[in-house]
Amino acid sequence: MSDNVLIPDSKLPALGTTIFTRMSALAQAHQAINLSQGFPDFDGPRYLQERLAYHVAQGANQYAPMTGVQALREAIADKTEALYGYKPDAASDITVTAGATEALYAAITALVRAGDEVICFDPSYDSYAPAVELAGGVLKRIALQPPHFRVDWQAFNDLLSERTRLVILNTPHNPSATVWRNEDFAALWQAISDKAVYVLSDEVYEHICFAQEGHASVLAHPQLRQRAIAVSSFGKTYHMTGWKVGYCVAPAALSAELRKVHQYLTFSVNTPAQLALADMLRAEPEHYLQLPDFYRQRRDLLVNALGNSRLEILPCEGTYFLLADYSAISELDDVSFCEWLTTEVGVAAIPLSVFCADPFPHKLIRLCFAKQEATLLAAAERLCRL
Ligand code: PMP
Ligand code: GLN
Repeated sequence: MSDNVLIPDSKLPALGTTIFTRMSALAQAHQAINLSQGFPDFDGPRYLQERLAYHVAQGANQYAPMTGVQALREAIADKTEALYGYKPDAASDITVTAGATEALYAAITALVRAGDEVICFDPSYDSYAPAVELAGGVLKRIALQPPHFRVDWQAFNDLLSERTRLVILNTPHNPSATVWRNEDFAALWQAISDKAVYVLSDEVYEHICFAQEGHASVLAHPQLRQRAIAVSSFGKTYHMTGWKVGYCVAPAALSAELRKVHQYLTFSVNTPAQLALADMLRAEPEHYLQLPDFYRQRRDLLVNALGNSRLEILPCEGTYFLLADYSAISELDDVSFCEWLTTEVGVAAIPLSVFCADPFPHKLIRLCFAKQEATLLAAAERLCRL
């Protein structure tokens, strides 16, 4: 190595490689069944793939418009109206992004200034905190407790301050598999209505919701949606996480700020993929209606197959993740247990403590059930031996 190499003074010194990348790599190295990183081991709709090939062959291979292909934004506007009773303006309120990850980063970067406080709920998805930190914001985390992970609205009110600028929420929630109710949104509105606080609502699992009441979206709340950015991901809905196409819906003034970041983060998103998604939304506008049943079957299959194991299964109201308590099996902390499980038992899972700032002493792991029946049964068979 040359002596001239400069080692940067890291802006994120405490941050390593994500748990998803680490666990998937460990699973691969040990040929373990990978129920860790959340992705399906089956394919998305054939029609969607054919439309992608079609648009590539038709020459739709140059930059898309910065905010997204118009046909896709219009289809998203119609879908939003059908789902949440409110039609965003396709030109000014919808931005297509490189997955939900980009939307979250662009939203946080656009809204959070140095010294601003941002409230989130732990366990929280791992991309929020680094984005807040890079923006100079101060993250205030509310620790939710298993098994229900409900928000204590008194604690939330106590945490609000003059400096609070943004609240980040996620429903259905990764990793706890719980969902917000309309009452939660009502409580949130009551708490922030007289304050200059924005809401970033990560709803990437909006169509994987098993709750009786269905998915409660920030977009269905007439007041909150006027100061909210709602984030969705086609990766979850169409079983193709690798396409990395998502979008966000926000009032024009908020979208305008978000787009200032988006235009220099990615500028625009994969053109043929956007055109294919627009075709898919038009051809089968109600495709998402089958998702709850589709995933409920997989969830129940895994829960039943683990019936004879010593794992204690927590309730799962949404997402394609199931939490399991392994206290009856091991004294190991959750990170060590997941490593042991992957290398010695041949099943990879995700520990929960990595999503929390405070010590998280619970012995909980997250299992992804977006898998074929045979994969789930093979994993359960190994877990039942413990
Ligand atoms: N938010 C949550 C809660 C997620 O679970 C994920 C990915 N699984 C994302 C955001 C990122 O979505 P995308 O892959 O579309 O970037
Ligand atoms: N969101 C996925 C999960 O929770 C992983 C995405 C990623 O690997 N960045 O498992």
